[in-house]
Amino acid sequence: MTCQHCGGETLAFPVPEAARDHLPDDRPGGELCTTCLRVTPTDDPPSEYPDFQTISDAFPRDSEAGAVLACLLAVVDSVALYRSELSALARDAESRGVDVMLFLDRLDADEALQPYFDVDRRNRQLEQLLYE
Ligand SMILES: [Zn+2]
Repeated sequence: MTCQHCGGETLAFPVPEAARDHLPDDRPGGELCTTCLRVTPTDDPPSEYPDFQTISDAFPRDSEAGAVLACLLAVVDSVALYRSELSALARDAESRGVDVMLFLDRLDADEALQPYFDVDRRNRQLEQLLYE
């Protein structure tokens, strides 16, 4: 599929069980844009986690942790609306050994990407959420 917003290619992924409760959409999968990092819910995801490192090496090698981060990217620009969801997804990723702040920093530094959200700003808000 291609992204409706920027025309970039998307990567389909199944939503991990642990993340399902923390997403505003209850569909079983998402399509992550490989350019702007927007996520569109999908009814028909693949059964296996894809290799998120094809998007950026900011993603962890563990593709299930990558899928949790993809879910986080779906709500990261709606901090006010999805505060508890965002915090739960970030904690889930951290419990898998991911440094979420570092992940966002590395996405921001990746010149192949054009994130749809202000990474720096969201990073600071997320830091407050996690460590307040
Ligand atoms: Zn896009």
